Amino acid sequence: MNRIQIVSGCNEKGPACVLVETDAARLLLDLGYGPDPDRRPDLAGIGTVDALLLSHGHRDHTGSLALARGIGDPQVWCTAPVAAMLPPETRTAILPSAGQCEVAGLRVQTGRNGHAPGGVWLHLGTGHGDLLYTGDCSIESPVHAFDPPPAARVAVVDASYGDYDTPLTEAAQALVDLLAGRAGAVPDAVLPVPPGGRGPEIAWYLATRRGWPVQLGDDLRQAIERLCVEAAHGLRPGLRESLRDLARSAPGLSAEPGLRLAGSADGSTGESAALLERFADQPQVAIVFTGYLPHGSPARALTEAGRARYLRWNVHPRRRDIVALARSCGVRHLLPAFGEHAAMARLRAELDPVEMITAREHSW
Ligand SMILES: [Zn+2]
Repeated sequence: MNRIQIVSGCNEKGPACVLVETDAARLLLDLGYGPDPDRRPDLAGIGTVDALLLSHGHRDHTGSLALARGIGDPQVWCTAPVAAMLPPETRTAILPSAGQCEVAGLRVQTGRNGHAPGGVWLHLGTGHGDLLYTGDCSIESPVHAFDPPPAARVAVVDASYGDYDTPLTEAAQALVDLLAGRAGAVPDAVLPVPPGGRGPEIAWYLATRRGWPVQLGDDLRQAIERLCVEAAHGLRPGLRESLRDLARSAPGLSAEPGLRLAGSADGSTGESAALLERFADQPQVAIVFTGYLPHGSPARALTEAGRARYLRWNVHPRRRDIVALARSCGVRHLLPAFGEHAAMARLRAELDPVEMITAREHSW
């Protein structure tokens, strides 16, 4: 028998952590922190695991590695770009970005998740019907490639957006409309973005597709350069050259009108924190956040005060993407992760006859 338990990230935007138990092995998938402050998975009662597999390098999937000491200090399996982001003392083993390997006696297949540098979905051959864990994923990214996963009986799927179903093309157009401002004027804004996430996508889109004056923070420029070298395998065809040109040619942050993109995403640290301090009292400069607004962050405070705007830039699957994924993989039981179940009524209806399981555990 196989058993899966969503240790953390069930019915909430919480840190990712999933336990898989098969006849052969016990594996932990992801061990995150946040995105709200002080949120860590509760590993009490988990016991010893044979291996820890990481889907991608974002903090809400990898930020609690220190807790692994309490579950037998397992070897950490991840792709090379993700391994490069982890603390140097981490005992890593390398997963392919798209391919097969064996972990603790289980056949593990991976494919690019369309979401982050070195990010993969994980497909486990469990012996009683295979399991797919998407981690975070997106099929819409203009930058990151997505590989269709193989058939799976049970799937734990990124449902961060719940019933949301707006295409990225429309979300991007809404961002353009907001930034366009006065006719003829150069768009003038601060956009705090995650350098290791949607930052390069938004910068590339605004600069290359729209031809707008994009200014890059040092952290974002370095992230784009790393993307072109260490994580180039995960890029869509032709993007490497285009991103490299952007990193070389875009000016740095300045007071000149333009679109200033820099981390951190919530404006709490780094160059975006300095930008917010500098421009918050200059209403002609728009401030736009495009991702999750953590409690207690400048992102949430400025948005709630009406000084900043929030517009989602899709980096997780829409409702239609989840339904299509379940159909194409022949999934029978789907556990939605990283979102509130109350916001998934239409998803549940459209998945039928695939059963949406909202319990924390499932056995097969
Ligand atoms: Zn992520």
